[in-house]
Amino acid sequence: MTSAEKPINFLLVDDLEENLLALEALLQREGLRCLKARSGEEALELLLAHEVALALLDVQMPGMDGFELAEFMRGSERARHIPIIFVTAGAANSQRRFRGYEAGAVDFIQKPIEAHVLRSKANVFFDLYRQRQQIEAQRDELEAAAHALRRADRHKDSFLAVLAHELRNPVAALSGGLHLLNKDIPPERAKDIRSRMDRMLEHLTHLVDDLLDVSRVSQGKISLKKERIELNQALRSAIEASQHNLDAGGHQFVVEMPQAPIWLDADHTRLAQIVANLLNNAAKYTPSGGTVSLIAGLHDGAARIIVSDTGVGIPADMQSKIFEIFAQVEDHLGKAQGGLGIGLALVKQLVSLHGGSITVESPGPDMGSTFTVRLPVLP
Ligand code: ADP
Repeated sequence: MTSAEKPINFLLVDDLEENLLALEALLQREGLRCLKARSGEEALELLLAHEVALALLDVQMPGMDGFELAEFMRGSERARHIPIIFVTAGAANSQRRFRGYEAGAVDFIQKPIEAHVLRSKANVFFDLYRQRQQIEAQRDELEAAAHALRRADRHKDSFLAVLAHELRNPVAALSGGLHLLNKDIPPERAKDIRSRMDRMLEHLTHLVDDLLDVSRVSQGKISLKKERIELNQALRSAIEASQHNLDAGGHQFVVEMPQAPIWLDADHTRLAQIVANLLNNAAKYTPSGGTVSLIAGLHDGAARIIVSDTGVGIPADMQSKIFEIFAQVEDHLGKAQGGLGIGLALVKQLVSLHGGSITVESPGPDMGSTFTVRLPVLP
């Protein structure tokens, strides 16, 4: 329930049940909740448990009278700001009024009560209370937005630093290589340098492609070329694209393809990119000689693709964050191999563009990770 829908409480305090009922009948309407107390003590108990927009106190009550109750309320952090209207029998003399105002009254109402006067006075306080609630809700929203902006700003700063670092390495290697190639060097050495430059260029291209993709997705500029495709085809392309990394890590690779064809309305290249990204991460964040598996099939009427590994795992507090752009687990930075923390953000966005979802599970550090992608299927 939002604060706008939550009923507003008002408190009636009177030792006579019939007075309480009469006042309740007079003020009650939709959106309001009446709290009734037969004594000052009962009222204080209610005030401990509820937030109240207005209190109507009978002045003359056995035991704690209305003024004493008001003084108690003024002494309590929680009840200090509650507007109080005293209900008095007959005209209160000026001395009594003075005591009432001193105790924190905002108004006096005399019996017999004029219904419309009380109602319109009470409504002013209900409106003020509602407005205060709205202002508080807006303040909380603004605070949350400012917090998110500050976080995003810090993220961007550190991302720029990482990006500069990651770009500098391959660029330095390329310019160093070019410099050497311009010299008179033996053909064998030149071949080595060229292949190293090739790898650097590939890495750079990959980084720039990912960056471009992410900015296109966040501007809503990526459009999928969706067509009726079989899941197996996309999975095979993904395996092909990540085979090199899986082999380089010396991992055992376990594959379970769907038994029967699963048809999807999907973009073949993007779907392969999603799975290849998960496989590459599994290879990257698993110490050599581990196991990476890809299991795909139909589950609960959707296509389910599970990529799991026996690697470094993901701490519980990072599991919800790693799909955010630029998020990286700090302890993993040594293994990120020039990654920028955009792969999973892109994967998540591409999965959503396909109408699917992605989740991650990891029992903890060094206990592996499991990524599960679910996608709608075609009949
Ligand atoms: P990166 O380029 O850093 O790999 P990603 O967006 O692909 O960026 O992943 C974000 C972070 O999530 C990684 O930096 C890493 O800390 C963590 N991560 C991703 N996949 C795995 C995995 N299979 N095992 C452990 N940690 C992972």
